[in-house]
Amino acid sequence: MRIAMIGTGYVGLVSGACFADFGHQVCCIDKDSAKIDGLQAGKMPIWEPGLEAIVKVNAERGRLTFTTSLPEGVKDAEAVFIAVGTPARRGDGHADLTFVFEAVRELARVIRPGTVVVTKSTVPVGTGDEIERILREEGVSDVSVASNPEFLREGQAVRDFLEPERIVIGCDDPGAAVRVSDLYRGLRAPLLVTDPASAEMIKYASNAFLATKVSFINAIANLCEAVDADVREVALGMGYDKRIGFEFLKPGPGWGGSCFPKDTRALVRIAEDAGYDFGLLKGVIQVNDEQVERVTTKVERMAGGPLDGAVIAVWGLTFKARTDDLRSSPSLEVIRRLRDRGAVVQAFDPTVRRQLDGIEVRDDPYAACDGAAVLVVLTEWDEFRWVDFGKVRDALARPVIVDARNLLDPAALRRQGFTYEGVGR
Ligand code: NAD
Repeated sequence: MRIAMIGTGYVGLVSGACFADFGHQVCCIDKDSAKIDGLQAGKMPIWEPGLEAIVKVNAERGRLTFTTSLPEGVKDAEAVFIAVGTPARRGDGHADLTFVFEAVRELARVIRPGTVVVTKSTVPVGTGDEIERILREEGVSDVSVASNPEFLREGQAVRDFLEPERIVIGCDDPGAAVRVSDLYRGLRAPLLVTDPASAEMIKYASNAFLATKVSFINAIANLCEAVDADVREVALGMGYDKRIGFEFLKPGPGWGGSCFPKDTRALVRIAEDAGYDFGLLKGVIQVNDEQVERVTTKVERMAGGPLDGAVIAVWGLTFKARTDDLRSSPSLEVIRRLRDRGAVVQAFDPTVRRQLDGIEVRDDPYAACDGAAVLVVLTEWDEFRWVDFGKVRDALARPVIVDARNLLDPAALRRQGFTYEGVGR
């Protein structure tokens, strides 16, 4: 099928490249001309394992093209996907649908009858109806609208797209639902075809549930610190229960990234608008906000004095490992609070090499430790386990580590003379 993908970000580029790999003819559209110029020249705008190869091979085969012109990209399409950003609206936490509706108004001018418009962006319940209304208002008829939320995880986005745990399609028109499901033919995954409102809700409910698991284990970690239990043992003992599972039971500096913070807040607003007070989810968000502060305070305590002028080494800037995405990274939030208290931050991250405002980004993990009073591990990059901790000890002014991800081996570090503090242990 001929597919247009409006928005060539993490979701649009990965989805577009993978659809092309399935054999479809895909045109990825973005209004960011630097991004499109780069892609046309074979340069990836994001760092995502396996993405470059799949983009390159499908672009060479002529199945994947890029453009900044929405009319050009959409004109022959049988399915038009919307994968633009849906950030939090300033001030109130509602999802900001400006980009979605702008794209719909623009595509209304060129769309062909019989096309199916599919939202891949995470959008509040009722957005599909609103898109239909706008299309009607713009004089478009004989076009179906479907919801097909995306569940890929940054850091393994290509694999998640090629091996999804489920495919959800929300559509009132059975024919259009079949056409959307056909795009995924060949994948072995459960397919759930449902009504649009349920499909839109599935995405928010899934993200809110995962955020709840993380906040829950962070709260348990805080309690473990108070009663001298080890949260890693507790999570292990819980996870063997299949109803609970091991995933998302790792304590840390709180969840972040481009989705959980905005989607949890948007769901609280969706609930409020519907007359339901989602107190549970508000608590989940509150625990998360407190967690960032707890980690900051722990660093302050381990620095052994006021932070004013203290040098703090930070390993990890991205919101999680195996991505270059810094959006709503808890690491950056901890750093902001450390700097507010006067600390000077030297950081290292495997995928971040540019200088960031107020943070001295160094080229290797040892250089980040140079003269620092404390080393804080804020992202769970596996490579941090394998550094030479003798060199780290020599570089630091004091051999003190706050491991906010419980990534390192406390016993080995203590043997090497470090003072070590993890989370919940
Ligand atoms: P992104 O910011 O990386 O990409 C969005 C792109 O859309 C940008 O490049 C922007 O220039 C482009 N754009 C905006 N308006 C446009 C228009 N009118 N025409 C053409 N291009 C336009 O965002 P993302 O991370 O890919 O997220 C997109 C959506 O998918 C969001 O709703 C998000 O919640 C959801 N989602 C994201 C992830 C994730 O891991 N990033 C996972 C699942 C779902």
